[in-house]
Amino acid sequence: MFNYNYERFLEEIRGLDCTVLRNEPMKKHTTIKIGGNADVFLNIKTEAALIEVLRILNTERIPSYILGNGSNTLVSDSGIRGVVIKLDGDFKKINYTMRQQISCGAGANITRFCLYACDHSLSGFEFLYGIPGTIGGAIYMNAGAYGGEIKDIIISCTHITKSGQKATLPKGDLCFSYRKSFYTSTDNIITRATFKFIEGEKKIIKKTMEDLMQKRKSNQPLNFPNAGSVFKRPVENFAGALIEKAGLKGKTIGGAMVSDKHCGFIVNKNNASCKDVLDLMDLIKEEVYSKTGIMLESEIKILGEH
Ligand SMILES: Cc1cc2nc3c(=O)[nH]c(=O)nc-3n(C[C@H](O)[C@H](O)[C@H](O)COP(=O)(O)OP(=O)(O)OC[C@H]3O[C@@H](n4cnc5c(N)ncnc54)[C@H](O)[C@@H]3O)c2cc1C
Repeated sequence: MFNYNYERFLEEIRGLDCTVLRNEPMKKHTTIKIGGNADVFLNIKTEAALIEVLRILNTERIPSYILGNGSNTLVSDSGIRGVVIKLDGDFKKINYTMRQQISCGAGANITRFCLYACDHSLSGFEFLYGIPGTIGGAIYMNAGAYGGEIKDIIISCTHITKSGQKATLPKGDLCFSYRKSFYTSTDNIITRATFKFIEGEKKIIKKTMEDLMQKRKSNQPLNFPNAGSVFKRPVENFAGALIEKAGLKGKTIGGAMVSDKHCGFIVNKNNASCKDVLDLMDLIKEEVYSKTGIMLESEIKILGEH
């Protein structure tokens, strides 16, 4: 049984630049619209507040979890014991710092980042357009699409450790690989990053973005809540194709269904629980392994006890 002293914690953070929600349903903060309550949910607006909150959490020995836009996250039905942190305010700011460079807060969403770059006639980021996450989540995951990954445009990244230390790492230290970064094996909080671009023509940049968005709309089940590709892409293969080959297109457990538009996605068709999705993922892994000998690996992150 967890016995965290939230009252004392909330008293100690009073006056800091953050807003507090108690027993917050995580289904409101995940794109797949699943998840029980988080005991405490904080929207933190400044770096100073973040550092102070982390210090107090450390003293009080209360666990915390950083969430971006929840577009690659599945939260358990019993929710999250501890504090969920979301970056707001200053962490959403985007600045054109110098020629061909943008500094972007980790809480900014990818769409805003792309539109900002396009507005400044900067090119090279277009592949990111349409990924429904934040810049922090995209760096953590090394998000990518249509032949590009965020690693291709990043220059450096700033983070705060759980003990409140701030550091900036150059791209070479960020250990990017497929859907992985230095951050995947740490609990640091990414706060800001700098990106490089090439100059381009606004009209052409916009057209590329719109074309890629159109591609997404025609290939992905955007009409149902989902968390993107559930499994990582196996070497020289596609998870969706393997799932379809295993005969699982449209396979349903409870309210969760293997999308009939793109088998790499599980959609929340009808009030699915986290358990429905996890059971469906287990079934997919078993079936795909028995039919193809390939073991699929989860891409989505699972938060909370299950
Ligand atoms: C319809 C749809 C399409 C998608 N298409 C793509 C695609 O084409 N390519 C692709 O790569 N992904 C895709 N995704 C998945 C997802 O959008 C990306 O992985 C995205 O980068 C996740 O960002 P997020 O902010 O939502 O992260 P979250 O889901 O909130 O978090 C993901 C992980 O990142 C960590 N994290 C988040 N913010 C921070 C931070 N500031 N500091 C440290 N850690 C942090 C979280 O703790 C968690 O472990 C898609 C998802 C959907 C729903």
